Amino acid sequence: MSFLFGSRSNKTFKPKKNIPEGTHQYDLMRHAAATLGSGNLRLAVMLPEGEDLNEWVAVNTVDFFNQINMLYGTITEFCTEESCAVMSAGPKYEYHWADGHTVKKPIKCSAPKYIDYLMTWAQDQLDDETLFPSKIGVPFPKSFLLMAKTILKRLFRVYAHIYHQHFPEVVQLGEEAHLNTSFKHFIFFVQEFNLIERKELAPLQELIDKLTAKDAR
Ligand SMILES: [Zn+2]
Repeated sequence: MSFLFGSRSNKTFKPKKNIPEGTHQYDLMRHAAATLGSGNLRLAVMLPEGEDLNEWVAVNTVDFFNQINMLYGTITEFCTEESCAVMSAGPKYEYHWADGHTVKKPIKCSAPKYIDYLMTWAQDQLDDETLFPSKIGVPFPKSFLLMAKTILKRLFRVYAHIYHQHFPEVVQLGEEAHLNTSFKHFIFFVQEFNLIERKELAPLQELIDKLTAKDAR
């Protein structure tokens, strides 16, 4: 797979979602990146003093979308109609796509189709200024946190699929540490604000216990 080296870090599945420079959210994003560098994830995910929870969740949700977009982008060639005819996370978990609005009756489809639906849907939500306002002074809607929870719950399934069905390829690409760091950050974040129900995390519970045990005190 040597032909992939060098360019793979720029490869994304969907276009990257950018937070406009000059906005408060851009500053928050930079703050998040700086605290992550400190190496203490529990501290890095905490709401910075004086900041708005909705805004903090919004910035981080965009960041996780971008991270997953890139991680999945590195393995798309291995995630095909043939290799992944159903969207699964191990033998016990299978997901059918529905967004509750345009698709109400869950569709049984392949993993690449499911992830395409999921990421397109997530991007549409992140781009919706009434839901994810990026301008200063524009309030977040009352339903914001609920929507962010739904997005994060669905993004988790991409991690779950990658870990269960594509881990050997991730290792082969040398992306293992990158995937683990990203997922650990994601889990610490959703745990800090209780954003995903425990039963939704079940497909990766063992891994979650392992990743978080070292930091438990
Ligand atoms: Zn797959």
